[in-house]
Amino acid sequence: MSAKTIFKKIIDGEIPTDIVYQDDKCLAFRDVRPQAPTHVLVIPRKEIASLADATNEDSPLLGHLLSAARTVAAQLGLARGYRLVINCGPDGGQTVDHLHVHILGGRPLAWPPG
Ligand code: 5GP
Repeated sequence: MSAKTIFKKIIDGEIPTDIVYQDDKCLAFRDVRPQAPTHVLVIPRKEIASLADATNEDSPLLGHLLSAARTVAAQLGLARGYRLVINCGPDGGQTVDHLHVHILGGRPLAWPPG
């Protein structure tokens, strides 16, 4: 069995984390190394390693994560807009093997990303 990811430890309450939203399916917390004035991660409680590992059965959960991200963005006052990012796999820049949606906002964001 593979070791717990850092995000599973956060779900299990083993690491102090600034949680800004939670429900029965997901939680959202501030990124420890923020890349924008507001940088929050939304993660499912279910352990899914990456978007590529999600199945069609997970589609309602994936929709729920987007709805939660919208709720969090509104809650945090990102009225001027924000960006959602899902890094997937090594080339996508994913560093934690637990599916997560980044919410970035609080400043104008450049495009394209690096
Ligand atoms: P990825 O690069 O996989 O898309 O994003 C992982 C994110 O998790 C990074 O932005 C990183 O700063 C964040 N992160 C890694 N470890 C921790 C932690 O222990 N606590 C919090 N709050 N964020 C973390």
